[in-house]
Amino acid sequence: MVIKPKVRGFVCVTAHPAGCAAHVQEWIAHVKSQPPLARGPKKVLVIGSSTGYGLASRVTAAFGPGAATLGIFFERPSEEGRTATPGWYNTIAFTKAAHAAGLYAKNINGDAFSADIKRQALDLIRADLGQVDLVIYSLASPRRTHPVTGAVHKSVLKPVGQSYTNKTVDTDKGIVSTITIEPANEQEIADTTTVMGGEDWEMWMQALSEAKLLAPGAQSVAYSYIGPEVTWAIYKNGTIGLAKNDLERAARNIDSLLKLHHGGGRACISVNKALVTQASSAIPVVPLYISILYKIMKAKGTHEGCIEQMQRLFATQLYAPTGPKFDAAGRIRVDDWEMRPEVQSAVKEIWPGTTTENLAELTDIAGYRSEFMKLFGFGLPGIDYEADTEPHVPII
Ligand code: NAD
Repeated sequence: MVIKPKVRGFVCVTAHPAGCAAHVQEWIAHVKSQPPLARGPKKVLVIGSSTGYGLASRVTAAFGPGAATLGIFFERPSEEGRTATPGWYNTIAFTKAAHAAGLYAKNINGDAFSADIKRQALDLIRADLGQVDLVIYSLASPRRTHPVTGAVHKSVLKPVGQSYTNKTVDTDKGIVSTITIEPANEQEIADTTTVMGGEDWEMWMQALSEAKLLAPGAQSVAYSYIGPEVTWAIYKNGTIGLAKNDLERAARNIDSLLKLHHGGGRACISVNKALVTQASSAIPVVPLYISILYKIMKAKGTHEGCIEQMQRLFATQLYAPTGPKFDAAGRIRVDDWEMRPEVQSAVKEIWPGTTTENLAELTDIAGYRSEFMKLFGFGLPGIDYEADTEPHVPII
């Protein structure tokens, strides 16, 4: 079939296999263009490995230090007349490239929150890798079926305590409007923490530890976001921010576990930059902030995408000869360039004046849109988007 983009609100319901593969190749090329790491991980488990920061972490680990990787993700295969999700095609492209480079790469597609997928992963690690020395936890999910109670919890992106009114942009239509979001109730706050907080990460790490599948000195890292005041009501102080506080709580527990039982290992949170991913495009207000941020950071020459962020995280923090530098709360900050005062004061200056009419001029909405389309494999150079394309490709 000829595969064209079909954008519905903040998702694209189609994905292009060759375009996704070209996107993954761009990321691999970036990692290969960087100086090799003096040291790096050897055997890596990536939970949430098919798109965004998790995929970028996997590409960095594999094509930098040449690590063996096991990827866990939840993607939908193609059906009659329907393409697979982009993470499906990304994973196939990554795995083919890794195998061509002589690297171990295996995948498990299924619900990482479930006991069954954890068991499958543990069995595969035991059989193939022996132990892992790095665990990346990069899930972004709208729901979680709790493995013990069977209850289904849904996460919401809402303010806490009071309603929040601010500008937002419909990135597809290019319309700037004012949005008011009502505060979450207690149940929604608790549910969001159950989905996006740290309990599942702890379950993974405890299971790996008990099964003796963590190498001495093993590290684990999960990702968070803080951002500027203009987004705090919906992010840092909202339901997702409270869930991220719980992720930080889990990081401290896992850090103690690794230090005590795994030869001085370490767990921490890395606070990453706001970027266009499937997860971030669903958050109200944030896409307008990202469009302004991209404009400013591109002009300053400091703009990074997922792969540049993760390459920098590995090279200058996780595997830096001097070790990571932590902020006062014990977190790694690769959002440091985003949070520079001169970048944030420029955002503050632009924000109030943005309208539908001047959106293209004051913000990088064009860059936002092209990044968004690339997530689904569209707009990549060298791809013939008129060509008949096979959407049904088995996962490797
Ligand atoms: P993403 O949507 O691109 O990736 C999510 C990944 O999780 C995918 O691989 C998906 O398959 C997997 N996944 C979702 N539910 C799953 C399930 N039940 N079982 C197995 N796999 C599942 O998201 P992202 O933006 O890369 O986010 C990853 C992490 O980075 C999140 O913790 C997010 O909060 C954080 N982060 C994102 C940003 C940003 O701007 N995008 C900034 C800082 C931190």
